Amino acid sequence: MNVILLGPPGAGKGTQAKKIVESYSIPHISTGDMLRENINNSTPLGIKASSYMSKGELVPDELSITIIKDRLSRTDCSKGFLLDGYPRTIPQADALQMILTESDRKIDVVLNIEVYDEELIKRLSGRRMCKCGASYHMIFNPPENDEICDLCKGKLFQRDDDKEEAIRNRLTVYKKQTQPLIEYYTKKKLIRTINGGQDIPQIFKDIKKVLKEYD
Ligand code: ADP
Ligand code: AMP
Repeated sequence: MNVILLGPPGAGKGTQAKKIVESYSIPHISTGDMLRENINNSTPLGIKASSYMSKGELVPDELSITIIKDRLSRTDCSKGFLLDGYPRTIPQADALQMILTESDRKIDVVLNIEVYDEELIKRLSGRRMCKCGASYHMIFNPPENDEICDLCKGKLFQRDDDKEEAIRNRLTVYKKQTQPLIEYYTKKKLIRTINGGQDIPQIFKDIKKVLKEYD
């Protein structure tokens, strides 16, 4: 099953992705996570990406296309994959289609998670991360101990792009560059809309209902 999770920043893509890959045993491919790993390791790609990311801009298409092409060529993707945060532009979606066609694969479904702007701002400004990859929200999904990761006891931190100015920019960038993908995938009859304004377990139930049709 080859699935795309589409939706604005803060819609809950990463949160739902973790639950989906647990249930369906497919790899979670997050371009944001891969880019942050490159930044942490100071790779040439990470160095190029870093200034765009901290301002809430998209990194140039050639960077995201390069990492996704490499990732989708790995054997763990042969039985399916879940894309989170890719594609984010029409050229990225066209590149994805080419990559998949070359290897005789296709996208089965695009889950479009819808959430209002006001709620997105609340979710992003309260998000806290751990270096182990865990993600929390100080009100909606808090850790047991203030600012300490439940899983590895690491100290939680706020992403640079979860600060107010970058959040506003990311929502503007989403509307201009990523939202057109809804029409793009609607035309291909691949879009299924998910109400992302509900609580985390209910959204997952709705997602599972849709994915049942493709499993
Ligand atoms: P995305 O990957 O789409 O940017 P995340 O999954 O990281 O979004 O979620 C953003 C923030 O909102 C996180 O702090 C997360 O804990 C919280 N969150 C996710 N889903 C919900 C929800 N349904 N209700 C309330 N908070 C949520
Ligand atoms: P995310 O973790 O998905 O919220 O992504 C964080 C940031 O990484 C984005 O704001 C972009 O700067 C960058 N990024 C992640 N995925 C992409 C992509 N597909 N295209 C361009 N930039 C991306």
